[in-house]
Amino acid sequence: MDIFKSTESEVRVYSRAFPMVFNRAKNAHLYSEDGKEYLDFLAGAGSLNYGHNNDILKKALLEYIESDGISQGLDLFTTAKQDFIEAYKKYILDPRGLDYKMQFTGPTGTNCVEAAMKLARKVKGRTGIISFTNGFHGVSLGAVAATGNKGHRGGAGQPLNNVTFMPYDGYFGDNVDTLAMMDKLLADNSSGIDLPAAVIVEAVQGEGGLNAARAEWLQGLEKLCKKHDILLILDDIQAGNGRTGEFFSFEFAGIKPDIVTASKSLSGYGLPMAVVLFKPELDIWNPGEHNGTFRGNNMAFITARTAVETYWKDDAFANEVKKKTEVLGNGLQAIASKYGSDFYLKGRGLMRGIACPNGELADKITSLAFEKGLIIETSGPNDEVIKCLMPLTTSEADLKKGTDILAKCFEEVLSESLSKAS
Ligand SMILES: *Cc1c(COP(=O)(O)O)cnc(C)c1O
Repeated sequence: MDIFKSTESEVRVYSRAFPMVFNRAKNAHLYSEDGKEYLDFLAGAGSLNYGHNNDILKKALLEYIESDGISQGLDLFTTAKQDFIEAYKKYILDPRGLDYKMQFTGPTGTNCVEAAMKLARKVKGRTGIISFTNGFHGVSLGAVAATGNKGHRGGAGQPLNNVTFMPYDGYFGDNVDTLAMMDKLLADNSSGIDLPAAVIVEAVQGEGGLNAARAEWLQGLEKLCKKHDILLILDDIQAGNGRTGEFFSFEFAGIKPDIVTASKSLSGYGLPMAVVLFKPELDIWNPGEHNGTFRGNNMAFITARTAVETYWKDDAFANEVKKKTEVLGNGLQAIASKYGSDFYLKGRGLMRGIACPNGELADKITSLAFEKGLIIETSGPNDEVIKCLMPLTTSEADLKKGTDILAKCFEEVLSESLSKAS
Protein backbone atom coordinates (compact mmCIF):
# COMPACT_ATOMS: atom_id res chain seq x y z
CA MET A 1 0.00 0.00 0.00
CA ASP A 2 3.05 2.29 0.42
CA ILE A 3 3.28 3.04 -3.31
CA PHE A 4 -0.11 4.74 -3.17
CA LYS A 5 0.83 6.91 -0.22
CA SER A 6 4.21 7.87 -1.68
CA THR A 7 3.20 8.37 -5.30
CA GLU A 8 -0.53 8.85 -5.72
CA SER A 9 -1.83 12.38 -5.20
CA GLU A 10 -3.41 13.42 -1.93
CA VAL A 11 -6.58 14.11 -3.89
CA ARG A 12 -7.69 10.47 -3.54
CA VAL A 13 -10.69 10.05 -1.28
CA TYR A 14 -12.50 6.68 -1.17
CA SER A 15 -9.24 4.84 -0.49
CA ARG A 16 -8.94 6.84 2.74
CA ALA A 17 -12.20 5.48 4.10
CA PHE A 18 -11.47 1.96 2.82
CA PRO A 19 -7.68 1.49 3.06
CA MET A 20 -7.35 -1.94 1.52
CA VAL A 21 -6.04 -3.23 -1.82
CA PHE A 22 -8.88 -4.89 -3.74
CA ASN A 23 -8.33 -7.29 -6.58
CA ARG A 24 -11.60 -9.01 -7.39
CA ALA A 25 -15.32 -8.35 -7.32
CA LYS A 26 -18.58 -10.13 -8.02
CA ASN A 27 -22.06 -8.64 -7.87
CA ALA A 28 -22.34 -7.05 -4.40
CA HIS A 29 -18.98 -8.29 -3.12
CA LEU A 30 -15.46 -6.91 -3.26
CA TYR A 31 -12.42 -8.98 -2.31
CA SER A 32 -9.14 -7.67 -0.97
CA GLU A 33 -5.70 -9.01 -1.91
CA ASP A 34 -5.49 -10.78 1.42
CA GLY A 35 -8.68 -12.67 0.64
CA LYS A 36 -11.16 -10.81 2.81
CA GLU A 37 -14.73 -10.51 1.51
CA TYR A 38 -16.59 -7.20 1.70
CA LEU A 39 -20.22 -6.45 1.06
CA ASP A 40 -20.31 -3.47 -1.28
CA PHE A 41 -22.96 -0.88 -0.41
CA LEU A 42 -21.10 1.79 -2.40
CA ALA A 43 -21.14 0.11 -5.82
CA GLY A 44 -18.77 2.47 -7.59
CA ALA A 45 -20.71 5.45 -6.23
CA GLY A 46 -23.79 4.19 -8.05
CA SER A 47 -22.03 3.26 -11.29
CA LEU A 48 -22.55 -0.48 -10.77
CA ASN A 49 -26.32 -0.82 -10.53
CA TYR A 50 -26.19 -4.29 -12.10
CA GLY A 51 -23.35 -5.42 -9.86
CA HIS A 52 -19.65 -6.09 -10.35
CA ASN A 53 -18.83 -8.28 -13.36
CA ASN A 54 -22.46 -9.01 -14.14
CA ASP A 55 -22.36 -12.36 -15.98
CA ILE A 56 -24.83 -11.41 -18.71
CA LEU A 57 -23.05 -8.15 -19.53
CA LYS A 58 -19.63 -9.78 -19.26
CA LYS A 59 -20.55 -12.46 -21.78
CA ALA A 60 -21.73 -9.86 -24.32
CA LEU A 61 -18.59 -7.81 -23.78
CA LEU A 62 -16.20 -10.77 -24.11
CA GLU A 63 -17.88 -11.91 -27.32
CA TYR A 64 -17.61 -8.39 -28.74
CA ILE A 65 -13.92 -8.08 -27.89
CA GLU A 66 -13.21 -11.58 -29.20
CA SER A 67 -14.77 -10.65 -32.55
CA ASP A 68 -12.50 -7.58 -32.90
CA GLY A 69 -15.43 -5.24 -32.46
CA ILE A 70 -14.50 -1.55 -32.48
CA SER A 71 -13.51 -0.35 -29.00
CA GLN A 72 -13.10 3.40 -29.52
CA GLY A 73 -15.07 4.95 -32.33
CA LEU A 74 -15.11 8.74 -31.78
CA ASP A 75 -18.56 9.71 -33.04
CA LEU A 76 -18.38 7.48 -36.10
CA PHE A 77 -21.46 5.43 -36.95
CA THR A 78 -20.81 1.92 -35.61
CA THR A 79 -22.92 -1.19 -35.28
CA ALA A 80 -22.50 -1.20 -31.49
CA LYS A 81 -23.74 2.38 -31.21
CA GLN A 82 -26.62 1.79 -33.61
CA ASP A 83 -27.76 -1.27 -31.65
CA PHE A 84 -27.57 0.65 -28.38
CA ILE A 85 -29.58 3.62 -29.68
CA GLU A 86 -32.23 1.30 -31.11
CA ALA A 87 -32.53 -0.68 -27.87
CA TYR A 88 -32.61 2.46 -25.70
CA LYS A 89 -35.34 3.95 -27.88
CA LYS A 90 -37.34 0.73 -27.94
CA TYR A 91 -37.15 -0.23 -24.26
CA ILE A 92 -36.60 3.09 -22.47
CA LEU A 93 -37.70 6.18 -24.39
CA ASP A 94 -40.68 5.02 -26.49
CA PRO A 95 -42.58 3.16 -23.75
CA ARG A 96 -42.30 6.27 -21.55
CA GLY A 97 -43.48 8.62 -24.26
CA LEU A 98 -40.16 10.45 -24.24
CA ASP A 99 -39.14 11.95 -27.55
CA TYR A 100 -35.49 12.82 -27.04
CA LYS A 101 -32.44 13.26 -29.19
CA MET A 102 -29.27 11.69 -27.79
CA GLN A 103 -25.94 13.50 -27.52
CA PHE A 104 -22.94 11.33 -26.70
CA THR A 105 -20.45 13.43 -24.75
CA GLY A 106 -17.10 12.71 -23.16
CA PRO A 107 -17.63 9.74 -20.87
CA THR A 108 -18.02 11.41 -17.46
CA GLY A 109 -21.09 12.76 -15.74
CA THR A 110 -19.59 16.19 -15.38
CA ASN A 111 -18.99 16.36 -19.14
CA CYS A 112 -22.62 15.71 -20.01
CA VAL A 113 -23.66 18.30 -17.42
CA GLU A 114 -21.36 20.80 -19.17
CA ALA A 115 -22.99 19.96 -22.49
CA ALA A 116 -26.49 20.31 -21.03
CA MET A 117 -25.73 23.72 -19.52
CA LYS A 118 -24.01 24.94 -22.70
CA LEU A 119 -26.95 23.86 -24.83
CA ALA A 120 -29.49 25.52 -22.54
CA ARG A 121 -27.52 28.78 -22.63
CA LYS A 122 -27.26 28.62 -26.40
CA VAL A 123 -30.97 27.90 -26.87
CA LYS A 124 -32.19 30.65 -24.56
CA GLY A 125 -29.40 33.18 -25.18
CA ARG A 126 -29.06 33.71 -21.42
CA THR A 127 -26.06 32.95 -19.22
CA GLY A 128 -27.71 32.20 -15.88
CA ILE A 129 -28.54 28.75 -14.52
CA ILE A 130 -30.51 28.08 -11.34
CA SER A 131 -29.31 25.19 -9.22
CA PHE A 132 -30.51 24.02 -5.82
CA THR A 133 -29.12 23.89 -2.31
CA ASN A 134 -27.19 20.63 -1.73
CA GLY A 135 -27.13 19.93 -5.47
CA PHE A 136 -24.17 18.02 -6.90
CA HIS A 137 -23.49 18.08 -10.63
CA GLY A 138 -19.77 17.33 -11.05
CA VAL A 139 -16.44 19.08 -10.60
CA SER A 140 -15.47 20.63 -13.96
CA LEU A 141 -15.87 24.41 -13.90
CA GLY A 142 -19.37 24.74 -15.32
CA ALA A 143 -20.76 21.83 -13.33
CA VAL A 144 -19.03 22.72 -10.07
CA ALA A 145 -20.50 26.23 -10.32
CA ALA A 146 -23.88 24.48 -10.03
CA THR A 147 -22.70 22.34 -7.09
CA GLY A 148 -23.44 23.50 -3.57
CA ASN A 149 -20.72 21.73 -1.60
CA LYS A 150 -18.12 24.14 -0.19
CA GLY A 151 -15.21 21.71 -0.50
CA HIS A 152 -15.85 21.06 -4.18
CA ARG A 153 -16.43 24.75 -4.90
CA GLY A 154 -13.22 25.69 -3.10
CA GLY A 155 -11.27 23.32 -5.32
CA ALA A 156 -12.13 25.40 -8.40
CA GLY A 157 -9.54 28.03 -7.47
CA GLN A 158 -11.42 30.78 -9.27
CA PRO A 159 -14.77 32.52 -8.97
CA LEU A 160 -17.71 30.39 -10.00
CA ASN A 161 -20.14 32.41 -12.04
CA ASN A 162 -23.56 32.45 -13.63
CA VAL A 163 -25.32 30.10 -11.26
CA THR A 164 -27.88 31.17 -8.65
CA PHE A 165 -28.98 28.78 -5.91
CA MET A 166 -32.56 28.32 -4.82
CA PRO A 167 -33.86 26.23 -1.90
CA TYR A 168 -34.59 22.58 -2.75
CA ASP A 169 -37.83 20.89 -1.73
CA GLY A 170 -38.02 20.84 2.07
CA TYR A 171 -34.91 22.98 2.58
CA PHE A 172 -36.69 25.20 5.10
CA GLY A 173 -38.78 22.38 6.53
CA ASP A 174 -42.16 21.03 5.54
CA ASN A 175 -44.06 24.28 5.90
CA VAL A 176 -42.17 26.48 3.47
CA ASP A 177 -43.17 26.37 -0.18
CA THR A 178 -39.81 26.87 -1.86
CA LEU A 179 -41.37 27.02 -5.33
CA ALA A 180 -43.65 29.90 -4.35
CA MET A 181 -40.55 31.73 -3.16
CA MET A 182 -38.75 31.02 -6.42
CA ASP A 183 -41.77 32.03 -8.49
CA LYS A 184 -41.97 35.39 -6.74
CA LEU A 185 -38.24 36.04 -7.14
CA LEU A 186 -38.44 35.29 -10.86
CA ALA A 187 -41.56 37.39 -11.39
CA ASP A 188 -40.28 40.44 -9.49
CA ASN A 189 -38.45 42.97 -11.71
CA SER A 190 -36.55 44.14 -8.69
CA SER A 191 -35.61 40.86 -7.00
CA GLY A 192 -32.11 40.96 -8.45
CA ILE A 193 -32.54 37.49 -9.89
CA ASP A 194 -32.04 37.57 -13.66
CA LEU A 195 -34.06 35.21 -15.78
CA PRO A 196 -31.92 32.09 -16.23
CA ALA A 197 -31.59 29.82 -19.27
CA ALA A 198 -32.35 26.72 -17.22
CA VAL A 199 -32.71 25.14 -13.83
CA ILE A 200 -30.72 22.01 -13.06
CA VAL A 201 -32.05 19.62 -10.46
CA GLU A 202 -31.76 16.07 -9.09
CA ALA A 203 -34.97 14.21 -8.21
CA VAL A 204 -33.03 12.61 -5.35
CA GLN A 205 -29.89 14.45 -4.27
CA GLY A 206 -27.23 11.74 -4.10
CA GLU A 207 -24.16 13.54 -2.78
CA GLY A 208 -26.19 16.25 -1.06
CA GLY A 209 -27.60 13.89 1.58
CA LEU A 210 -30.34 11.80 -0.05
CA ASN A 211 -32.90 14.58 -0.14
CA ALA A 212 -35.82 13.31 -2.19
CA ALA A 213 -38.09 15.82 -3.87
CA ARG A 214 -41.82 15.13 -3.73
CA ALA A 215 -43.70 14.42 -6.95
CA GLU A 216 -45.79 17.60 -6.42
CA TRP A 217 -42.65 19.67 -6.11
CA LEU A 218 -41.17 18.31 -9.34
CA GLN A 219 -44.49 18.88 -11.10
CA GLY A 220 -44.58 22.42 -9.74
CA LEU A 221 -41.02 23.01 -10.88
CA GLU A 222 -41.88 21.86 -14.39
CA LYS A 223 -44.86 24.26 -14.44
CA LEU A 224 -42.79 27.12 -13.08
CA CYS A 225 -40.15 26.57 -15.77
CA LYS A 226 -42.78 26.64 -18.51
CA LYS A 227 -44.37 29.77 -17.05
CA HIS A 228 -41.06 31.67 -17.01
CA ASP A 229 -39.70 30.21 -20.27
CA ILE A 230 -36.85 28.37 -18.53
CA LEU A 231 -35.51 24.96 -19.55
CA LEU A 232 -35.67 22.13 -17.03
CA ILE A 233 -32.49 20.03 -16.83
CA LEU A 234 -32.95 16.86 -14.78
CA ASP A 235 -29.61 15.44 -13.65
CA ASP A 236 -30.33 11.70 -13.53
CA ILE A 237 -26.70 10.63 -13.38
CA GLN A 238 -26.88 8.99 -9.94
CA ALA A 239 -30.60 8.44 -9.36
CA GLY A 240 -31.27 7.03 -12.84
CA ASN A 241 -30.81 3.61 -14.42
CA GLY A 242 -33.32 1.98 -12.09
CA ARG A 243 -31.97 3.22 -8.76
CA THR A 244 -35.36 4.46 -7.55
CA GLY A 245 -37.26 1.43 -8.84
CA GLU A 246 -38.13 3.11 -12.13
CA PHE A 247 -35.68 3.64 -14.98
CA PHE A 248 -35.67 7.43 -14.60
CA SER A 249 -35.89 8.99 -11.15
CA PHE A 250 -38.52 11.50 -12.34
CA GLU A 251 -41.03 9.04 -13.80
CA PHE A 252 -43.08 8.88 -10.59
CA ALA A 253 -43.85 12.58 -10.98
CA GLY A 254 -44.97 12.19 -14.59
CA ILE A 255 -42.83 15.12 -15.73
CA LYS A 256 -40.96 15.43 -19.04
CA PRO A 257 -37.77 17.43 -18.50
CA ASP A 258 -36.44 19.38 -21.48
CA ILE A 259 -32.97 17.96 -20.94
CA VAL A 260 -31.82 14.85 -19.03
CA THR A 261 -28.24 13.91 -18.16
CA ALA A 262 -27.30 10.24 -17.80
CA SER A 263 -24.03 8.51 -16.93
CA LYS A 264 -22.78 6.42 -13.94
CA SER A 265 -24.70 3.11 -14.38
CA LEU A 266 -25.67 3.80 -18.00
CA SER A 267 -23.10 1.33 -19.39
CA GLY A 268 -24.09 -1.12 -16.67
CA TYR A 269 -20.59 -2.52 -16.36
CA GLY A 270 -18.73 0.40 -14.83
CA LEU A 271 -17.44 1.42 -18.25
CA PRO A 272 -17.35 5.20 -18.73
CA MET A 273 -20.20 6.57 -20.81
CA ALA A 274 -22.43 9.65 -20.73
CA VAL A 275 -25.39 10.90 -22.71
CA VAL A 276 -27.49 14.04 -22.79
CA LEU A 277 -31.11 13.57 -23.80
CA PHE A 278 -33.10 16.55 -25.01
CA LYS A 279 -36.26 17.53 -26.84
CA PRO A 280 -35.61 17.55 -30.61
CA GLU A 281 -36.40 21.25 -31.04
CA LEU A 282 -33.47 22.10 -28.74
CA ASP A 283 -30.96 20.48 -31.08
CA ILE A 284 -29.35 23.66 -32.40
CA TRP A 285 -25.76 22.50 -31.95
CA ASN A 286 -23.27 23.18 -34.72
CA PRO A 287 -21.18 20.11 -35.62
CA GLY A 288 -18.39 19.65 -33.08
CA GLU A 289 -19.50 22.56 -30.93
CA HIS A 290 -19.29 20.33 -27.85
CA ASN A 291 -16.70 17.72 -28.62
CA GLY A 292 -14.52 15.07 -26.98
CA THR A 293 -12.24 12.24 -28.08
CA PHE A 294 -13.86 9.56 -25.98
CA ARG A 295 -17.49 9.94 -27.04
CA GLY A 296 -17.52 6.52 -28.62
CA ASN A 297 -16.80 3.92 -25.97
CA ASN A 298 -18.21 1.08 -28.05
CA MET A 299 -17.57 -1.51 -25.34
CA ALA A 300 -19.83 0.59 -23.10
CA PHE A 301 -22.46 0.63 -25.87
CA ILE A 302 -22.40 -3.17 -25.91
CA THR A 303 -22.95 -3.54 -22.16
CA ALA A 304 -25.44 -0.64 -22.05
CA ARG A 305 -27.51 -2.25 -24.79
CA THR A 306 -27.36 -5.63 -23.08
CA ALA A 307 -28.41 -4.08 -19.75
CA VAL A 308 -31.41 -2.39 -21.34
CA GLU A 309 -32.45 -5.52 -23.23
CA THR A 310 -31.98 -7.75 -20.18
CA TYR A 311 -33.41 -5.68 -17.36
CA TRP A 312 -35.85 -3.24 -18.96
CA LYS A 313 -37.69 -5.32 -21.56
CA ASP A 314 -40.52 -5.76 -19.03
CA ASP A 315 -41.42 -4.83 -15.44
CA ALA A 316 -39.82 -7.84 -13.73
CA PHE A 317 -36.57 -6.17 -12.73
CA ALA A 318 -38.22 -2.91 -11.68
CA ASN A 319 -40.63 -4.89 -9.50
CA GLU A 320 -37.71 -6.73 -7.92
CA VAL A 321 -36.02 -3.42 -7.12
CA LYS A 322 -39.25 -2.13 -5.57
CA LYS A 323 -39.43 -5.22 -3.39
CA LYS A 324 -35.82 -4.81 -2.29
CA THR A 325 -36.54 -1.17 -1.55
CA GLU A 326 -39.05 -2.34 1.02
CA VAL A 327 -36.67 -4.86 2.55
CA LEU A 328 -33.95 -2.21 2.83
CA GLY A 329 -36.35 0.42 4.14
CA ASN A 330 -37.66 -1.91 6.83
CA GLY A 331 -34.13 -2.85 7.89
CA LEU A 332 -33.05 0.78 8.12
CA GLN A 333 -36.25 1.86 9.88
CA ALA A 334 -35.73 -0.82 12.52
CA ILE A 335 -32.29 0.63 13.24
CA ALA A 336 -33.23 4.31 13.20
CA SER A 337 -36.33 3.91 15.36
CA LYS A 338 -34.21 2.55 18.23
CA TYR A 339 -32.33 5.80 18.69
CA GLY A 340 -34.95 8.54 18.74
CA SER A 341 -35.93 11.34 16.40
CA ASP A 342 -32.34 12.51 15.80
CA PHE A 343 -31.94 9.48 13.55
CA TYR A 344 -34.23 9.24 10.55
CA LEU A 345 -34.51 7.75 7.10
CA LYS A 346 -33.72 9.66 3.93
CA GLY A 347 -33.83 8.97 0.22
CA ARG A 348 -35.93 6.89 -2.11
CA GLY A 349 -35.65 3.49 -3.78
CA LEU A 350 -32.28 1.79 -3.33
CA MET A 351 -30.60 5.07 -2.53
CA ARG A 352 -31.63 5.31 1.08
CA GLY A 353 -29.88 6.00 4.29
CA ILE A 354 -30.01 7.09 7.89
CA ALA A 355 -29.37 10.69 8.92
CA CYS A 356 -27.27 10.94 12.08
CA PRO A 357 -27.06 14.02 14.32
CA ASN A 358 -23.53 14.74 13.07
CA GLY A 359 -20.83 13.61 10.67
CA GLU A 360 -18.47 12.40 13.36
CA LEU A 361 -20.97 9.82 14.53
CA ALA A 362 -21.78 8.71 10.99
CA ASP A 363 -18.07 8.33 10.28
CA LYS A 364 -17.56 6.19 13.39
CA ILE A 365 -20.39 3.93 12.31
CA THR A 366 -19.22 3.51 8.70
CA SER A 367 -15.59 2.96 9.82
CA LEU A 368 -16.72 0.20 12.16
CA ALA A 369 -18.86 -1.23 9.34
CA PHE A 370 -15.74 -1.50 7.19
CA GLU A 371 -14.01 -3.46 9.95
CA LYS A 372 -16.99 -5.79 9.93
CA GLY A 373 -16.84 -6.27 6.16
CA LEU A 374 -19.31 -3.67 4.87
CA ILE A 375 -18.28 -0.91 2.49
CA ILE A 376 -20.63 2.02 2.95
CA GLU A 377 -20.19 5.78 2.53
CA THR A 378 -21.68 8.91 3.99
CA SER A 379 -23.15 11.91 2.16
CA GLY A 380 -24.73 15.25 3.00
CA PRO A 381 -23.40 18.71 3.87
CA ASN A 382 -21.63 17.39 6.98
CA ASP A 383 -21.25 13.77 5.82
CA GLU A 384 -23.92 12.94 8.37
CA VAL A 385 -26.09 10.64 6.24
CA ILE A 386 -25.12 6.96 6.10
CA LYS A 387 -25.88 6.12 2.50
CA CYS A 388 -26.85 2.74 1.04
CA LEU A 389 -26.11 2.53 -2.68
CA MET A 390 -25.72 -1.20 -3.25
CA PRO A 391 -26.11 -2.85 -6.65
CA LEU A 392 -29.78 -3.29 -7.58
CA THR A 393 -28.91 -6.95 -8.13
CA THR A 394 -27.91 -7.45 -4.48
CA SER A 395 -29.71 -10.50 -3.08
CA GLU A 396 -32.27 -10.01 -0.33
CA ALA A 397 -30.05 -12.13 1.92
CA ASP A 398 -27.14 -9.72 1.35
CA LEU A 399 -29.40 -6.71 1.91
CA LYS A 400 -30.34 -8.17 5.23
CA LYS A 401 -26.74 -9.07 6.03
CA GLY A 402 -25.73 -5.46 5.34
CA THR A 403 -28.43 -3.95 7.52
CA ASP A 404 -27.59 -6.47 10.27
CA ILE A 405 -23.97 -5.27 10.21
CA LEU A 406 -25.17 -1.67 10.30
CA ALA A 407 -27.46 -2.45 13.25
CA LYS A 408 -24.49 -3.88 15.19
CA CYS A 409 -22.36 -0.85 14.36
CA PHE A 410 -25.05 1.58 15.51
CA GLU A 411 -25.41 -0.40 18.72
CA GLU A 412 -21.68 -0.50 19.47
CA VAL A 413 -20.95 3.12 18.56
CA LEU A 414 -24.02 4.56 20.27
CA SER A 415 -23.72 2.55 23.47
CA GLU A 416 -20.11 3.71 23.66
CA SER A 417 -20.99 7.40 23.19
CA LEU A 418 -23.89 7.07 25.65
CA SER A 419 -21.65 5.55 28.31
CA LYS A 420 -19.14 8.34 27.72
CA ALA A 421 -21.85 10.96 28.16
CA SER A 422 -23.09 9.53 31.48
C1 LIG B 1 -21.59 11.67 -9.95
C2 LIG B 1 -22.49 12.75 -10.38
C3 LIG B 1 -22.11 13.70 -11.34
C4 LIG B 1 -20.72 13.75 -11.91
O1 LIG B 1 -20.35 12.59 -12.59
P1 LIG B 1 -18.80 12.27 -12.80
O2 LIG B 1 -18.78 11.06 -13.66
O3 LIG B 1 -18.22 12.04 -11.44
O4 LIG B 1 -18.20 13.46 -13.45
C5 LIG B 1 -23.03 14.65 -11.73
N1 LIG B 1 -24.27 14.68 -11.22
C6 LIG B 1 -24.68 13.78 -10.30
C7 LIG B 1 -26.09 13.85 -9.77
C8 LIG B 1 -23.80 12.80 -9.83
O5 LIG B 1 -24.18 11.95 -8.88
